[in-house]
Amino acid sequence: MGKISDPPTGDTPFWESKSLDALSRDEWEALCDGCGKCCLVKLEDEDDGTIHYTDVGCALLDIAACRCSDYTNRAERMPDCVILTPENIGEVKHWMPQSCAYRLIAEGKPLPAWHHLVCGDRQMVHRRGKSVIGIAAIESEVPEAELPAHIIDIDD
Ligand code: SF4
Ligand code: SF4
Repeated sequence: MGKISDPPTGDTPFWESKSLDALSRDEWEALCDGCGKCCLVKLEDEDDGTIHYTDVGCALLDIAACRCSDYTNRAERMPDCVILTPENIGEVKHWMPQSCAYRLIAEGKPLPAWHHLVCGDRQMVHRRGKSVIGIAAIESEVPEAELPAHIIDIDD
């Protein structure tokens, strides 16, 4: 992540003082807590539209580091990867975990205490068990038919 280019307004941190579409690129990138939950394979219930997360990571997810192994080129490498933007967050946030910082801000909610912008520690998300670091498998190792057996609750 780059440094935050714009100082917060007064004592109010930027994520509380600015709307998502007013954030600088660095501020936008800094909002990501690094949980990796959005990089898990998701299944949508055909009957009621419910989104189910699995413990299976995208083929580009570096499971040990809990980050995309080719973030810069992710759109080209993985066409299914949804690139979050201020313009599409309202439309796709229901696909994001409830803890996702972008979803929280879009819904007018505060960042959690374990978020690195709040606590100053990027590893806290992992220590608090809020990330998918070390999850079970990557997409290429799990046949599609077995994905339902990998459904997990990521918002506990
Ligand atoms: S779910 Fe949200 S906060 Fe977590 S890695 Fe994805 S974009 Fe970042
Ligand atoms: S391409 Fe990268 S950012 Fe996109 S879902 Fe896969 S691991 Fe995550």
